Amino acid sequence: CGITGYIGFRDAYPIVINGLKRLEYRGYDSAGIMMYDGDKIHLSKTKGKVSDLELITEKEQERKKGNIGMGHTRWATHGVPNDVNSHPHFSQTGDLVIVHNGIIENYDTLRKELITRGYTFKSDTDTEVLVNLIEEVKKQEGCKLGKAVQLALNNVIGAYAIAVFDKTKPNEIIVARLGSPIAIGVGKDNSEFFVASDASPFIEYTKDAIYLEDEEMAIIKLDKGIKVRKINDDSLVDANIQELQL
Ligand code: GLU
Repeated sequence: CGITGYIGFRDAYPIVINGLKRLEYRGYDSAGIMMYDGDKIHLSKTKGKVSDLELITEKEQERKKGNIGMGHTRWATHGVPNDVNSHPHFSQTGDLVIVHNGIIENYDTLRKELITRGYTFKSDTDTEVLVNLIEEVKKQEGCKLGKAVQLALNNVIGAYAIAVFDKTKPNEIIVARLGSPIAIGVGKDNSEFFVASDASPFIEYTKDAIYLEDEEMAIIKLDKGIKVRKINDDSLVDANIQELQL
């Protein structure tokens, strides 16, 4: 399983898709991609290989448009491998999109709580519960996405690498890690950022990388930069940029 992502000035699609191919060695049963074209979010996802996903996007070229994208290869833990359970997953409003590797152990309790608050679910995944929990926290607290992700993760038992995008704030991607790896590639002058399970998807674009530690999250903002913070308390972490060696 694996995660890729891009936010910047280039076409995101080839970066995200080729990145997924480089992560194929990690094993998976389904693949999916989210593309944001500046107006709409397109989700394309399927049980099967990254090459099967490419057959879908080949047929509808608008699925490839945009400078922001996130990709996922899934190793199913909750819900059988099928198209609906494949990632990315939308929140109820369709504003938030998530890709997730790992397991949310208390998803059933969280799911029941969300159902009493009017949420419905399309998939059988633990992941769709998490993206709706983030949405609900954001609504309840009236806070920014980064804070909502942090508060939601503090209610989660499990393991994760996640990347979250919000259509209403399309200049940022939030990532977080507990138990599954996340690397961030940093472009020149904060003009572009890459996200991936390891650095192989972005090594040809930048040599500057930040590896999140467990219990850390990063708020990645185009033109502004990266803030790394602890998930469990409010302390900021000095983002340690490493130089990748070929
Ligand atoms: N638990 C999630 C699911 O079953 C993510 C699995 C993964 O790590 O790919 O959809």
